[in-house]
Amino acid sequence: MLDQDGPLYPPSFLGILGGGQLGRFFVQAAQDLGYQVCVLDPDPHSPAGQIAQMHLQANYEDREALLTMARQCRAISTEFENVPAKTIDFLIAQGVFVAPDSFAVSIAQNRIKEKQFFQNILAKTAIGPVHYCVIEQEADITQVPKEIFPAILKTSQLGYDGKGQQTVHHLAGLLPAWTSLGKVPCVLEKKVDLDFELSAMIVRGADDEVQLMPIAQNIHQNGILHLSMVPAPNMTQSINDHIQRAAKVMIRELHYVGVMCIEFFILKDGTMCVNEIAPRPHNSGHHSLDSCLTSQFEQQVRVLAKLPLGNSKLMSPVVMLNLLGDIWANSKNIDIKMSPNWQKILAMPSAKLHLYGKSEPKVGRKMGHINFLDESVGHALKSAYQAMEILEFPTDKE
Ligand code: ADP
Ligand code: MG
Repeated sequence: MLDQDGPLYPPSFLGILGGGQLGRFFVQAAQDLGYQVCVLDPDPHSPAGQIAQMHLQANYEDREALLTMARQCRAISTEFENVPAKTIDFLIAQGVFVAPDSFAVSIAQNRIKEKQFFQNILAKTAIGPVHYCVIEQEADITQVPKEIFPAILKTSQLGYDGKGQQTVHHLAGLLPAWTSLGKVPCVLEKKVDLDFELSAMIVRGADDEVQLMPIAQNIHQNGILHLSMVPAPNMTQSINDHIQRAAKVMIRELHYVGVMCIEFFILKDGTMCVNEIAPRPHNSGHHSLDSCLTSQFEQQVRVLAKLPLGNSKLMSPVVMLNLLGDIWANSKNIDIKMSPNWQKILAMPSAKLHLYGKSEPKVGRKMGHINFLDESVGHALKSAYQAMEILEFPTDKE
């Protein structure tokens, strides 16, 4: 009889809810350690489902599929944040070790709860959210202070990559913006003057061991992550210390077990704010696949298998460049799809190319990324800009 609380050894099955690229990297990390993986994702062509030993093609509330998964896997994690809390609780009720659990996930899934959480622990972290108001009904609009504008209205749930967001310049634009988002619960955030953005990947094991991975500095375009740089060029020792302390408080206050990402804003006036939490590995941690001794995905596997956490120290400066479906489009006719010039990319000595196995490139769709490893972030950044030219990145973005 196996000890229910002890480590889970290969070739046992681990489970992952969701079959996107984050799931695919989880599968690869698990398989590298000799585990087998069962993926639950309704998409028959999902990136993770393609390579897992077992792919259950069903939706996330399908009882039969969840029971099959629970029979196959003693430990299950998630790769996207909108897995229903009910699904996680159902699996836990079957005796499965699920990390993270539904308490943490349900806070991270909901911007209203998430901001309240940041506010509640402000005395311990000394980093609060940006000035915000909650809009749940029409009457809330009359309570909004004028100083909040210009602002960004964000749906409380189901937003990602800048989706479910609208910039609102004046009070008069608020009702139309809220109406266009379907009058669902929202937060209205002050649009702040960003100096730069950082993200901290942090991992906590079931035994309370906590590790912070190297902090990344991120550049977004049109609400989608474009570049991550590690070490963060604008980081100071005091920002680093402050984030380290706050991130450890946050993960413990959430009783979180697993890998999570916390996004921070550093404003032009030097103020630090916490933006949001992703309860899973994150795009801004993809550099760790090549740059860290232990990647964010291997950490997720270790947590799930109740093994000691790995050492995530940075082995090389790195820049991660996201590849969106846009670059598959012929520059003259965007309806014609062309394969990007991978030969030239692969000839670059610092480039490590990762493609996610998605057959249909769409504008804004994450298709892959390149990690550039070099002696400094400056050198790696130069290569990233060369790659953008080779791949004919669209230039009409902000
Ligand atoms: P998502 O869930 O889509 O990642 P975010 O809230 O993180 O949504 O917003 C995406 C990006 O938009 C941020 O990384 C940042 O660049 C920009 N952004 C979001 N909120 C604000 C804000 N209040 N002020 C200025 N820029 C913002
Ligand atoms: Mg974000």
